[in-house]
Amino acid sequence: MTELVDVVCHQCKIKLELLDAPLPREAWWKFLDEHAYHPVELLWEHSEARERIDIDYIYVDSDIEGDPSFAEYAGDWPGRPLALRPRPIARAVAEIVERAFDAMEAHEWQAASADGAVAEQIMRYMDFAPPASELVDNAAVLARLAAVEAALERLRRAAIEPLGDHFGTFLNDVLHALPTAADLPPDELCAESGPLASPRLWDTERALRLIQHLLAARVALREPSPHAD
Ligand SMILES: [Zn+2]
Repeated sequence: MTELVDVVCHQCKIKLELLDAPLPREAWWKFLDEHAYHPVELLWEHSEARERIDIDYIYVDSDIEGDPSFAEYAGDWPGRPLALRPRPIARAVAEIVERAFDAMEAHEWQAASADGAVAEQIMRYMDFAPPASELVDNAAVLARLAAVEAALERLRRAAIEPLGDHFGTFLNDVLHALPTAADLPPDELCAESGPLASPRLWDTERALRLIQHLLAARVALREPSPHAD
């Protein structure tokens, strides 16, 4: 193939590059088997639908930690049962994040002087990219829940700071879309977990990762740092 072609399932939020080689071909057959009755789309290099793909999508054979290789995807990818479940919280937050990016692109986003510093404070509580395939026990679930709760609390505190209208509205919108601590009872999350993480815990972590991405890319004071520091 001479042009880059990806296939994407918008229901399962997964993207696969079509390559003419043995393992990618096996992965493609798996994809057909798994997503044939889903809203699947072929993406060419300049397809508009690429705009709809965000960092919550799973990219087969990317260098993103936890995303499957072609071989893993074609075979028994251990994260599959969790990664391909619906993520309603992340999807709701993805829409809000996309609106924020759109407003920035259109130069409609009006920042206030406090925004950058508040984003920095939020970022200190945000480091969410646990792979779907990560095995958890109760201690791991509780540690991850504690990190999520700290991030939610930081977002709530940030929302009452004197922020620009756009950032303030953004924080209120994501806080409405995100669960509260009461929606994430530790005993239920532990019961839902094992060997993979609780789906709603992982969904919430993915949602927070989208917020982290927006803040790091556009709102925080410093430039986003490269992976290797
Ligand atoms: Zn699908």
